[in-house]
Amino acid sequence: MKHIDTLIIGGGQAGLAMSRCLSDRSVDHVVLERGRVAERWRSERWDSLRLLTPNWQTRLPGFRYVGPDPDGYMSMPQLVGFFERYATSFAAPIELGTTVGGVEQVGARFRVQTNRDVWLANNVVIATGYSDVPYVPPLARRLSPRVAQIVPTQYRNPRQLSAQGVLVVGASATGVQLAAEIRATGRPVTLAVGRHMRLPRTYRSRDIMWWLDAMGVLRESVADVVNIRASRSQPSLQLVGCSDVQSLDVAALERRGVQILGRLVDVEHERVSFDDDLIATTAASDIKLADLFLRIDAFIAKTAVNTAPPAPFEPTWPSARALTKTSVDLRAAGIDTVVWATGFSRRYPWLRVPVLDDHGEIRQREGITPVPGLFVLGMHFQRRRNSAFIDGVGDDAAFLAEQIARRTRFDAAAAS
Ligand SMILES: Cc1cc2nc3c(=O)[nH]c(=O)nc-3n(C[C@H](O)[C@H](O)[C@H](O)COP(=O)(O)OP(=O)(O)OC[C@H]3O[C@@H](n4cnc5c(N)ncnc54)[C@H](O)[C@@H]3O)c2cc1C
Repeated sequence: MKHIDTLIIGGGQAGLAMSRCLSDRSVDHVVLERGRVAERWRSERWDSLRLLTPNWQTRLPGFRYVGPDPDGYMSMPQLVGFFERYATSFAAPIELGTTVGGVEQVGARFRVQTNRDVWLANNVVIATGYSDVPYVPPLARRLSPRVAQIVPTQYRNPRQLSAQGVLVVGASATGVQLAAEIRATGRPVTLAVGRHMRLPRTYRSRDIMWWLDAMGVLRESVADVVNIRASRSQPSLQLVGCSDVQSLDVAALERRGVQILGRLVDVEHERVSFDDDLIATTAASDIKLADLFLRIDAFIAKTAVNTAPPAPFEPTWPSARALTKTSVDLRAAGIDTVVWATGFSRRYPWLRVPVLDDHGEIRQREGITPVPGLFVLGMHFQRRRNSAFIDGVGDDAAFLAEQIARRTRFDAAAAS
């Protein structure tokens, strides 16, 4: 059995940031990664994906983008290269191809079983990702076997789909990007739109992320928001990492020929039913966006940022067809593929420590679980709004590294 102070499970941005912060504090640790560095960005994303966040916002503890295109958006190969350089920059102690199959408590320590070794660790940091397993609603089981079902982690490009029509379910960042890409091949595409967050690429001549960053919105903490549960359940932004595409919102997709419908509510073999809630969901999204624009305008008035005047706000008016149609026969409509872009869930079948709540989520506050020595990193809005973003995870990693370093110092003092 190998002994170590701290094990980090997962070698994505969270695991690497954690490793860097522990290295800075001289805490003995190893990162266990079942695949390669940044494996999910390599094997669970589609070919055309670019980061939604601009290059200048690709910042991790002790490392940041320094290339010639700060306002561009990284492709997946570029991003993987960035993470590889990050791991090399501080000689991250990472064991690749190492899958954790069991974590259990042994006294005050943790026994961690991998496909290679057994470890005994004082601390374990779970950094296996918020976007872990694609969520597919249970009603998908009632879909006709004629219809192919695919989740975003399996989707690479439209060539893997048949030439027939496609139903994309979910209109957050993933759903709108896949709907647009598949539609561009000429296939008929229907998009089921539930709650969503409309957001343009730029506002008043600056990237929307620039405003959110400058105004401190992304760094807002759990204490800054009125209802943390509501904030944590916000859908992801309808954005695309491309400066030529200003918007991939409901109106823009309708203009591209995507048929827009309301939230998918029922499935019975070939028949799929949709809520007639589109006017409500688009209006709610418009109100949030108008509110954000007002906040930005107020910020500009206060700080005298040099910028362009605002364009008139254009509310979303879904077509009458989109508002009335509530049921589709997939065979009659020529649809033979459904893409479930309905978010992610997390699974920890290897975690044999009693920290999961009724929903299977790790109970934690600011990444600290009720079990001393067990931590989690990279959860959505863990400490701040950007906790699960590349730009935000470093702050949380530094916070947890402090907790771990303190425990390590305490253990050392107790032993001497
Ligand atoms: C489609 C998409 C686009 C996104 N775009 C952006 C963006 O533009 N900008 C931004 O800042 N954020 C973006 N995000 C959010 C976030 O940055 C990513 O989800 C990111 O991958 C999270 O990094 P992570 O290290 O927390 O988790 P992950 O990248 O999921 O890394 C977890 C690692 O743990 C490993 N692992 C899992 N289980 C085990 C096990 N049992 N044993 C060993 N290893 C294991 C996995 O192989 C993986 O490498 C996006 C997310 C998605 C899904």
